[in-house]
Amino acid sequence: MSVPVAPGQDRGNQMRSPGRPASSWILRYEGFVPGEEGLREALCTVGNGYIASRGAAPESRADGTHYPGTYVAGCYNQLRTDLDGHAVTAESLVNAPNWLPLTFAAEDGPWLDLSQVEVLRHEQELNLRRGVLTRRLRIRDRNGRVTRVTSRRFVHMGAAHLAALQTTIVPENWSGRLRVRSELDGVVENTGVPRYRRLASRHLVPVEARALAESVVVMVVETTTSHIRIAEAARTCVSRAGGPPGGDMTVIAEPGRIGHEVSVDADRGEPVTVEKTVAITTSRDHAIWDVADSAAGWLELAGSFDDLLRQHVLAWSHLWARFSIELTDTPADWMLEVLRLHVFHLLQTVSPQTIGRDVGVPARGLHGEAYRGHVFWDDMFVFPVLTVRLPELSRSLEGYRYRRLPAARRAARRAGYEGAMYPWQSGSDGEEQSQLLHLNPQSGRWLPDTTYLQRHVGIAVARGAWQYYQATGDLEFLALQGAEMILEVARFFASLAAYDPGRDRYGIRGVVGPDEFHTAYPGASEAGIDNNTYTNVMAAWLLVRAAEVLDLLPRHRRSELRDRLDLSAREIERWDLVSRRLLVPFHDDGIISQFEGYEALEELDWERYRARYGDISRLDRILEAENDTPNRYKASKQADLLMLLYLLSPEELAGILARLGYAWDAAAIPETFDYYQARTTGGSTLSALVSAAVAARARQDRSVGLFLDALRTDVADVQRGTTAEGIHLGAMSGCIDVLQRFFAGMELRGDVLRLNPFWPRRLGALKLRIFYRDHAITLHVEERAVRVSSEPGKAPPVRVSCRGDTRELRPGGSVTFWLRGQDG
Ligand code: BGC
Repeated sequence: MSVPVAPGQDRGNQMRSPGRPASSWILRYEGFVPGEEGLREALCTVGNGYIASRGAAPESRADGTHYPGTYVAGCYNQLRTDLDGHAVTAESLVNAPNWLPLTFAAEDGPWLDLSQVEVLRHEQELNLRRGVLTRRLRIRDRNGRVTRVTSRRFVHMGAAHLAALQTTIVPENWSGRLRVRSELDGVVENTGVPRYRRLASRHLVPVEARALAESVVVMVVETTTSHIRIAEAARTCVSRAGGPPGGDMTVIAEPGRIGHEVSVDADRGEPVTVEKTVAITTSRDHAIWDVADSAAGWLELAGSFDDLLRQHVLAWSHLWARFSIELTDTPADWMLEVLRLHVFHLLQTVSPQTIGRDVGVPARGLHGEAYRGHVFWDDMFVFPVLTVRLPELSRSLEGYRYRRLPAARRAARRAGYEGAMYPWQSGSDGEEQSQLLHLNPQSGRWLPDTTYLQRHVGIAVARGAWQYYQATGDLEFLALQGAEMILEVARFFASLAAYDPGRDRYGIRGVVGPDEFHTAYPGASEAGIDNNTYTNVMAAWLLVRAAEVLDLLPRHRRSELRDRLDLSAREIERWDLVSRRLLVPFHDDGIISQFEGYEALEELDWERYRARYGDISRLDRILEAENDTPNRYKASKQADLLMLLYLLSPEELAGILARLGYAWDAAAIPETFDYYQARTTGGSTLSALVSAAVAARARQDRSVGLFLDALRTDVADVQRGTTAEGIHLGAMSGCIDVLQRFFAGMELRGDVLRLNPFWPRRLGALKLRIFYRDHAITLHVEERAVRVSSEPGKAPPVRVSCRGDTRELRPGGSVTFWLRGQDG
């Protein structure tokens, strides 16, 4: 895969001649480039939705170049730090003991260290189809010994707790003693993000480390405050092509580390293979008594590397069948590969192995320590992709939020509101985990962080539940969990909305919208802005949904829930009223405003800032370093208004605004897009994909270019350094969502699968697989037609509609809609 590095350009002129499907499934890096290693490690992470390990070299330790992190989903710990007199408590996804360490030494030479040898070849290759990371290395040491090393690793997609590393060492021009060391390293900390380095980082204390059998060792550690025990058991086997290993294996133990050292007589040209099979368990697992026993039990079940690999590849092949995306005649040969890379990392973060576990969707995957593994609103970009392919996974992830409903109720109560106030950043128990101080690396100053005022996160939670129901018709979920979340979040927004008799409107004050550049009014001592359009419109949307949900519930469940929540007819009437009278600010020229008072802000001198700083995506940091603030300007990190158009179809948005008593026409979308797009720095990785999505409806000439920018986010590390700290899962998944919901125009609403494609001709043709109401559906989209086919089966027929033409789709049937051509 070779991706153009420079963002911001539409590569449309590099279209290939039609007819050839892009087919590569490989992400490959040649050469050893220390400065790029962090990025490669993040993008070469292998995981299975339970554990993930960065693609660090097996012989490496955290040293500024390498960062071999391993993360177990949902395994958090809190530490306190005294920061210039402020006590800061931070909860982090814990970097678990490193299971990878495997190194070798030729005769009495030193252990492998790339900086001390001549690197003749270095290649990292991630096979997306098989979920295998291969590293090929050829080195010459100071004594002229040339050694070839190939290592392959995977984290088992079919068996949550298992991972394996196989290393084959070939002494090309020497014979002699080959020493191999395979360890489990518990002396690890959370030091993956330079900005957090002043925060306490030692989350683990050793509990035990011992040999279980000649070739098996186990290590147990415990997190310091959440007291989660983590066990890793490793089995190391050595074999030689020419027969038995003929060497000695000894257990080696140092404080915090345990493993094996094996010494074999290696023959020139004869490969020596080391297989390391690892089982990882934690005390958060189900069906567990002792973590060490449990890990040993998993190892007992694990066959050879090749056996495990076969099952692992099978599990991936099933996933790829569900998440199949095919593009033919694509504009850029890397586009399909990047889309697959995005699906791949999504499924390594949450997968069938996640189902039934109490974990949410961490914004940066299980790929690094940025945002400390917290869960934000980014699952809103993930659920639309998952729900139509693995609905049972979405339902399981909804459980993460449902179990934290009591915490959200507590938060609302403490803040003086009713219902449930979900936290902006969520971790272990659903309490707010947003930092109260953050470091501006540009100025070196620690500053108050008020972005936790993003109350809109609750709407994302409720919307996830609603969308899941829309896609599946799973009334049982709605009755047991979904409705309660939707009603409680609706109740919170209704209580947040205060009546202003002067305007005869309800208003929501003192919040922060998705655009984190606006956290207060210029010069104000209090944080928060008033009547953020995104929040108000979505709150109105939610209040309407809440009433709809009540209607949908079976009668007995509705009355149970109303009794239990003490939900009176009066309260429901008030919701209705609020949903009709929330305030939406408009500019004098009719453009919907981002929030009340936005119009009065100053225009930024964009040219001056671009000329001076080049990349101004993090304008907030630049301005703060100049003792200024983005609060003063009409400049956004990501445009709230565009986000509204990302979530709601033009008809839906027009409907809500009409209900609120505002005359608005979808014809205003292009102008609205131009206005906010020109005032957005793209400082959030969610920005480009949202712009691409809206442009599909508003400015089709720009949407492919923006989409390609969004695709480059991680693979080309457009934020220069942030991908190394963890992928941007919302942006990755969001790209798939843009493809399906905007370019293919798929919308699940009102028991109908709606299609309104804005398919850019330049993207060739698309074939997608989705599941809708028990139908396995293949969607073919091209410029002039969209065809929907359902596999044979027993599901009841569903309705499919395209631009007003509604048809019935039966299992085994297909419907084709002809479209007028569009440009792009
Ligand atoms: C964005 C948020 C996002 C978070 C985690 C921030 O930079 O502004 O919208 O939820 O990153 O991805």
